[in-house]
Amino acid sequence: MVNTHFHWDHWHGNEVYPAAYPGAEIITNQLTREAMVRKGLKRIQDHVRQVPAEVTRLRAELAAATTTEQRAKLQADLRLAESYLAEVRALKPALPTMAFERTMKLYRRDREIHLLYLGRAHTEGDVFVYLPRERTVITGDAVIGWTPYMGDGYPEDWVATIDRLAELDFDTIIMGHGNPAGREWLRTFRGYIHDMVEAVREGVATGASLDEVKQRVPPRLAPAYEKAFATYEHYRPWRTGLLANIERTYAMVS
Ligand SMILES: [Zn+2]
Repeated sequence: MVNTHFHWDHWHGNEVYPAAYPGAEIITNQLTREAMVRKGLKRIQDHVRQVPAEVTRLRAELAAATTTEQRAKLQADLRLAESYLAEVRALKPALPTMAFERTMKLYRRDREIHLLYLGRAHTEGDVFVYLPRERTVITGDAVIGWTPYMGDGYPEDWVATIDRLAELDFDTIIMGHGNPAGREWLRTFRGYIHDMVEAVREGVATGASLDEVKQRVPPRLAPAYEKAFATYEHYRPWRTGLLANIERTYAMVS
C-alpha cells in the first residue's frame, strides 16, 4: 500500500488495509509522512469541526430553494456532506509504517515496483510509482486529468519534477484523478503549468496586481489549453481552476 501524498482523499482509510491484510505495510516518503503528521492530522480535526456548519448551511439553502434543479443539487451536496461527516468522525488515521527518502525498490514475484521522489509538485512530497516492466507510472495528483489543484503545491518546481518523470521509460500514466492516459497528455499538462507560471511571472515582473494578472492570463492560455482541460468541466470548471492556480502562483512568485 502506497500513499502518494498527504491529501485526505489519498490517505484517509489507510486503516482498512492492515485490518484486511494483517502485516501490510503502508509506504510513503519521509516528506509526505511528515506532512501527514504536521498538516493532515490537523485537517481531520478541522473537518470534524467545520462540516457540521456546512451541513446546517446546506439544509437552510435546501429549505429556501425554489427550482427543482437547485433542490436536486443541494440534496446531493447535503447527502455527500452528511456521509462525509459520519466518515471523518469515525476515522482512525493510520500513518505510513515505512518511509523512504528518494527511492525505494520492491521486487515481488513477477512485479518490480520503483517508488520515487522527483521533487516538489502538487505537494512537497509527491511519490511516483513506476512499474518498469508494465511501462506504467502512477502519479498521484502531480499529474491529473483536469486543472490541477495547487493550494498546497509548488507551481515553480512542478515543471522540473514532470521533466524528471518524463525521463522514465513508460507509455501509460495512471493519474490521481481522471482516466489513464499516454505521454501526449503529460506534454499538455506540463505545457499548461509551464505557460501559466511564465505568464504570472511576467505579470509580476511588470508590477501588475493580482487582479490584473487574473484578467490578463486566462485569455493567453485559453487557445492552447481550455479545450483539453474542459473535459471534466462539470467536476472542476477550467476557469475556476485556472484562477485558483494563478492566485497560488502569484503568491509564490511575489
Ligand atoms: Zn491531492
